[in-house]
Amino acid sequence: MLFDFGRSDKKTIADMQEKGTISIHTENIFPIIKKFLYSDHEIFLRELVSNAVDASQKLKQLAALGEYKGELGELIVDIAFDEKKKTITISDNGIGMTGDEIKKYINQIAFSGATEFLEKYKDKGESQQIIGNFGLGFYSSFMVAKQVEISTLSHRKGAKPVMWSCDGETEFEIKAGKKKTRGTDIILHIAEDSEEFLNQARIQTILDKYSKFLPVTVRFGTKDKSVEDGKDKDDKVKYKTVKEDNIINETAPLWTKSPSELKDEDYIEFYRKLYPFSEEPLFWIHLNVDYPFNLTGILYFPKLKRDFEVQKNKIQLYSRQVFITDEVKDVVPEFLQLLHGVLDSPDIPLNVSRSYLQSDSNVKKINGYISKKVADKLAELFKNEREAYEKKWDDIGLFVKYGIISDDKFDEKAKDFALLKNLDNKYFTIEEYKKHVKANQKNKDKNHVFLYTNDQESQHSFVEGAKKRGYDVLLFDSPIDSHFIAHLEQKNTDIVLKRVDADVADKLIETDEKKETVLSEEETTKLKEIFEKAVDDKNNQIQIEPMATDDQPVTITLPEFIRRMKDMQATGGGGPMMFGDMPMNLAVSINGNHALIRKILDYKKEPSQIALAKQAYDLALLAQGMLTGEKLTNFVNRSVEIAGK
Ligand code: ADP
Repeated sequence: MLFDFGRSDKKTIADMQEKGTISIHTENIFPIIKKFLYSDHEIFLRELVSNAVDASQKLKQLAALGEYKGELGELIVDIAFDEKKKTITISDNGIGMTGDEIKKYINQIAFSGATEFLEKYKDKGESQQIIGNFGLGFYSSFMVAKQVEISTLSHRKGAKPVMWSCDGETEFEIKAGKKKTRGTDIILHIAEDSEEFLNQARIQTILDKYSKFLPVTVRFGTKDKSVEDGKDKDDKVKYKTVKEDNIINETAPLWTKSPSELKDEDYIEFYRKLYPFSEEPLFWIHLNVDYPFNLTGILYFPKLKRDFEVQKNKIQLYSRQVFITDEVKDVVPEFLQLLHGVLDSPDIPLNVSRSYLQSDSNVKKINGYISKKVADKLAELFKNEREAYEKKWDDIGLFVKYGIISDDKFDEKAKDFALLKNLDNKYFTIEEYKKHVKANQKNKDKNHVFLYTNDQESQHSFVEGAKKRGYDVLLFDSPIDSHFIAHLEQKNTDIVLKRVDADVADKLIETDEKKETVLSEEETTKLKEIFEKAVDDKNNQIQIEPMATDDQPVTITLPEFIRRMKDMQATGGGGPMMFGDMPMNLAVSINGNHALIRKILDYKKEPSQIALAKQAYDLALLAQGMLTGEKLTNFVNRSVEIAGK
């Protein structure tokens, strides 16, 4: 036992006036509390208001059990401050405490709790992170107060009022009090370095943050100035509210209600309350579990679209309606951290460090449960309201794809409702799409080749080329798609994905079929020579191909595999470092069957041949949006000259 609370336990409360000494080894606990909780001083108010709420709820329970027979009245927690006296007072009309209870709960238990905490974390570097989540309880008041008084009257029949006082040194005093009405006032005499808290806006902000949904009415007012030292005739602290009845909280927030009694409007209204300037959510999931852990809450799917400003930390975490944090990292699967809403669970340990939280089995279960619930909800929407689901896909697709990539269990479920969208704005599941493209989009290995574009504008000619051959083209234009595509191929070995500009149209889907060429071997060699001279970038691979006569004379493509490596790098997906400096290695395909290519060969003088080849090559670059700067200027000048001839 760390404490010595002195003697005289046999004294009656009436004549009780005793002093005790808190001996915590040699150290004084309060400077340590202050130092440790430096970054998070404001939580003192959360702790004290929560205690007041608990005291009120306990009384309600006792009344319900018939153990308290007195008048319950309206249970209310009042917060007031007095700038002149430099006090903040938290009052409740809950169960109150007897002298013995103060000794037990305040002197012993609370102290040992606080000390245990300090002993445990004193020497650990991670203390700053622990603090925010650690409910230090009553003693956190010493972070801001130089002296704390508890004036209390127990609900018990015949109880006598008690006054406890501690000046933040190692001594406390306990004596007969004057309180005439049931409940507890905690009076904080604010320390000089914490006077920032004697400010209406500051207190209001803290209350709004932590107490918005507490289950007992919380009211914030200033102390009635006409009451001197609380010496009015009932010894009642009177409050003059700042605003007409400044009630902070909603005692029965939406998530505590039964889903069956709620309408869509209720959910939307609650969403607006949480996020005043956001667009309406797409849909929501009302969570409600008792076993094997207790979890309630509402998760909203927000409208994200393409403005990809990452809005994490929008989910608020509560424990029994007390706001704890909006750091939900471990509790919510990463891919769902863009969701909005509230989670409330008394089973999430909040008084421990981050690393502990990660390994906590309840947290893991909750994380898994949320993921499963979201998957079930999406599956249900897909099954029952496919049309509406498709309309939402552009927004929710990002979540689903992220989940598919990062969470195996989610992937397992999501493959049935993950959608692919084609350029006709039609949506398909993967299996549906395989059937859709079956006939002419199988390659020589009998794999399905899914063609896609990520930019219809710049890949327009390639899209047209694919369409002309009767191919279907998908649209993959979200930032996550390059990863999603890689994942799709990995999980479905019978699917190959290719961007439309990865190769010339004829070779997008590799078949065994050989196209006839009109060129002789000699002509092919000559043509290659001419183009090698015309094309200035020596990294480019020049191939003479037999293509359709109405295909372009020259086509420039970037092979799928190289481009993907670059895409992955651009979106932070890694890939071997060596690709960072990799040359572009464009493939330059010369259409041997095209009339213009014939014309090049027909020119007898090499300079003319090279000039025309260069023109055709630049046109291909132009089509790809790759002709810029000086090269573009030269091309334009040359074209003007040719046109004039
Ligand atoms: P915790 O609330 O986690 O138990 P605290 O240090 O905050 O720890 O409080 C210790 C105990 O003191 C509480 O469990 C409760 O029994 C008692 N207590 C604190 N505040 C009040 C209050 N306003 N009214 C009645 N009892 C209180």
